[in-house]
Amino acid sequence: ATMPPLLSAIATAGRHGVLVKSAVAMERLGEIDTVALDKTGTLTEGTPEVTDVSPLPGSGLDADALLALAAAAELPSEHPLARAVVGAARARGLRIATAQGFVATPGRGVRAVVEGCAVEVGRMEDSADRMRRVDGVRDLDDRMHEADGMRNGVDRPSAADDGMRNGVDCPAADDGMQDAGDRPSPADGMRNPITRSSHLRPHSHPSAGTTVLVTRDSTPVGTLTLTDRLRPAAPAATAGLAGLTGTTPVLLTGDNAHAAARVAEATGITDVRADLLPEDKVNAVRELQLAGRKVLFVGDGVNDAPALAAAHSGLAMGRAGSDLALETADAVVVRDDLTAVPAVVRLSRTARRLVL
Ligand code: ADP
Ligand code: MG
Repeated sequence: ATMPPLLSAIATAGRHGVLVKSAVAMERLGEIDTVALDKTGTLTEGTPEVTDVSPLPGSGLDADALLALAAAAELPSEHPLARAVVGAARARGLRIATAQGFVATPGRGVRAVVEGCAVEVGRMEDSADRMRRVDGVRDLDDRMHEADGMRNGVDRPSAADDGMRNGVDCPAADDGMQDAGDRPSPADGMRNPITRSSHLRPHSHPSAGTTVLVTRDSTPVGTLTLTDRLRPAAPAATAGLAGLTGTTPVLLTGDNAHAAARVAEATGITDVRADLLPEDKVNAVRELQLAGRKVLFVGDGVNDAPALAAAHSGLAMGRAGSDLALETADAVVVRDDLTAVPAVVRLSRTARRLVL
């Protein structure tokens, strides 16, 4: 029996580890002329590790206390960076407190109340104030103030009138030093701080570090650096896609320009757009399409659902993807092999030639 070419291409794609959802989706994959790639979880493995923990002087925190504080705020998050922070804290045997009022802001970071303190973990580029302006975070502020039953005109609620604090005082940055002596620290007995990446994880492939800021009651208390590895197949997959479309893919990332540049360099990508919020990724895809391009967006599905939907064809990396992204995408890479992406575009083109 002869199968229609597009269905037979779907079956072949399946053997390559790519689940294409319909004959129409298979057909669209072959129509694309431009590729936009997400960085984290797409060109990189998406399983970053904490490679540096740096408490700020005057924070009253040592490395383990800082890591435990950040992990408490990140615990409810499914973001790869969050999982890395929690994993590092667990690996060091730290006690992770239960946070309240958790809010994640896509592309920026998380905020939660941890043992009486408003803790934020997120982009270095975002000041605490900027994060607060984002809707979800403003909502948390409003709810905190509603719980107080009053708005006292002060930007952050004080320990005295904050109902979410359970009567625990959040240490101010200045008195932290004095307090450190009498407060039992989760770090006790585990004094060696986490240092540079090379001690923790040998990198066989180029890596890109991203540094996030931890604030406590809007005061910066330290930074964490997370390092992700380039997927071994990323350079070959990028070259394959460039060969098929005649232009090198565009890199779209919410990460900083430095981390983006390292990945771009390793994959031969020259068009790099960094510091993008999820909606900026959508706009970048739309702009390319308004210029007449048919864009294939490849993302890991974390925050990427809108860009996957806006693109002519959306391909999600299956391992990290959210349910929403897997539903939105036209196809899902279920096996962890990036070279399947150019392979499936090639398959579609061949099938379309047979159909037409
Ligand atoms: P990408 O586009 O590389 O997949 P995201 O859009 O998910 O990245 O996130 C962009 C940036 O926002 C991250 O590099 C980080 O600085 C910050 N961020 C997002 N989520 C978190 C989180 N849960 N914890 C800390 N930082 C975060
Ligand atoms: Mg991502």
